[in-house]
Amino acid sequence: MKAIVYGGPGKRSFNDVPVPRIQKTTDAIVRITRTTICGTDLHILKGDVPAVQPGRILGHEGVGIIEEVGEGVSNFKKGDRVLISCVTSCGKCEYCKKQVYAHCEDGGWILGHLIDGTQAEYVRIPHADNSLYHVPEGADEEALVMLSDILPTGHEIGVLYGAVKPGDTVAIVGAGPVGMGVLLTAQFYSPANLVVIDVDDARLEMARKFGATHTINSTRQDPVKELMAMTKDGVDVAVECVGIPATFDVCQKVLRPGGHLANVGVHGSSVDLELQNLWIRNVTITTGLVNTNTTPMLLKTVESGKLRPEQLITHRYAFSEFPQAYEVFSNAADSKAMKVIITNE
Ligand SMILES: [Zn+2]
Ligand SMILES: [Zn+2]
Repeated sequence: MKAIVYGGPGKRSFNDVPVPRIQKTTDAIVRITRTTICGTDLHILKGDVPAVQPGRILGHEGVGIIEEVGEGVSNFKKGDRVLISCVTSCGKCEYCKKQVYAHCEDGGWILGHLIDGTQAEYVRIPHADNSLYHVPEGADEEALVMLSDILPTGHEIGVLYGAVKPGDTVAIVGAGPVGMGVLLTAQFYSPANLVVIDVDDARLEMARKFGATHTINSTRQDPVKELMAMTKDGVDVAVECVGIPATFDVCQKVLRPGGHLANVGVHGSSVDLELQNLWIRNVTITTGLVNTNTTPMLLKTVESGKLRPEQLITHRYAFSEFPQAYEVFSNAADSKAMKVIITNE
């Protein structure tokens, strides 16, 4: 089968590799019908995630059809259409019992990281009973690909950890796919103001379409000044969705007393935490890796049409065009790509 294979920093190939086989009785083999590329895959390709070994098939998002299940799998059978969670969970360990699936002792984020991932014709999914979801009858499968990672990440690590409440003013710093996931799912909780900050006008325009009440282009306006002018004493919730010191700094400077800073961004270096200013302000700072414990709820909201994540898809490719999809996604500033979908029916 063909797959996108990591070859070490800066090296990616679209190679012939062996089809995965069942290794444990709790495994399933899924034929991928739709997948996508995540910003995290680009981080891996840059060499930012040294745990990824050359030869690894990338990808942790997708939907597909069950090809084969191990003897220990009871929730799924050959032919079932399934959504793949970016987080694998055994359902039995201490972390799984607490729904902190990100830290499952025999799972967590392993797909396209520590084991082969979804940017392939087939993928092996360990602990299939706990790591896959049935695709609801008639559901838009492209929309569901957004539920593998970006929507649960935005919802859990941005909106829930940030404790967004009715009437809140929420600042979302970074309008990439996960920032958009925060923007879409924050609206479940009826905040009064949703301010999105980015450097790209096209992304800000998209944000306004998806429910942003205000947008700030930080190349032209100082986001701290603008946010402080807009509010009396800062925002209730600041969500960091970039992962660099400058954007974290904006978030820590605009929090009102009692506010929440939810860090979603993947940071590659330390930030300057201004604890000398924050300690007296009763703020809460949170970070995390997605648990996907809210995926079943998100599935229902997509099924009902309340959440429409297919709006995030800007580009579509056939499986044979996978390398082109990578080119376009990695040049998002020019291509205006948000999420790309690769189909293999
Ligand atoms: Zn991802
Ligand atoms: Zn576990």
